[in-house]
Amino acid sequence: MIYLVEHFFSIQGEGRYSGVPSIFLRFGGCNLRCRGFGAYEIGGERIAGCDTIRAVHTKRFKHMWKSVDDEGALQSVVMQYVDRVAYRPDIILTGGEPMIYAEDPIFYETVVWMLEHGFRVTIETNATLAPPFEAYPAYRDVTFAMAVKLSNSGEPKAKRVVPGIIRRLAEEGNDSFFKFTLDSTSIEKEVEREIREICEPFENEIYCMPLGDNVRQLQANAPVVAEFCLRSGYRYSDRLHVRLWNREEKR
Ligand code: SF4
Repeated sequence: MIYLVEHFFSIQGEGRYSGVPSIFLRFGGCNLRCRGFGAYEIGGERIAGCDTIRAVHTKRFKHMWKSVDDEGALQSVVMQYVDRVAYRPDIILTGGEPMIYAEDPIFYETVVWMLEHGFRVTIETNATLAPPFEAYPAYRDVTFAMAVKLSNSGEPKAKRVVPGIIRRLAEEGNDSFFKFTLDSTSIEKEVEREIREICEPFENEIYCMPLGDNVRQLQANAPVVAEFCLRSGYRYSDRLHVRLWNREEKR
């Protein structure tokens, strides 16, 4: 069963297609349990976990997830936004971890439909799961934004870095790229060596973004990450949606 947590139309705030108007579909569930960078205040309650807590914390939020029973439902979600504009926005499939559904016929056929209708599709993934591309060839036309988790996620390395999967997404996806979220503490802790070890075998672009789900935190981390990028040669990515709308939801 596929679960859709939320959908919205906004500006892609991160990575290679930063600034592009995009339709976001956020799917529920994840195969990892990152502790994230702290606790989040949601509805007056402090909850520890990653920054997409609504898409991974089943006990607290699953009642808000909608089950998707056919691909027509997802197509309708997309078309309700497309009908408002005179162009094709990008489509971002995010989570949680959307690749837990990669071999589900509804999910896959929806991706095929999106590509056939001229949408550029990006899947934001932790890069620990991938289907065999021979059996699911449409994924060769999808861009994978590979947010491989670092030691600051709290997950064991064997779970968060799966070289064979990274290779498949990096080499067989369409212009796939790496994306890492950093703050001053993580930069002090050998993060450069970790990123190099993960990315070295590949030619794909590497983006580093400052941690921050609000403008103040983002701005506090931005200069440190920018300096890190200058030292290491990686690309700096801001988080435009946070700059523009701070903590507003569905942005
Ligand atoms: S992989 Fe991403 S969505 Fe899953 S728990 Fe970690 S940060 Fe959250």
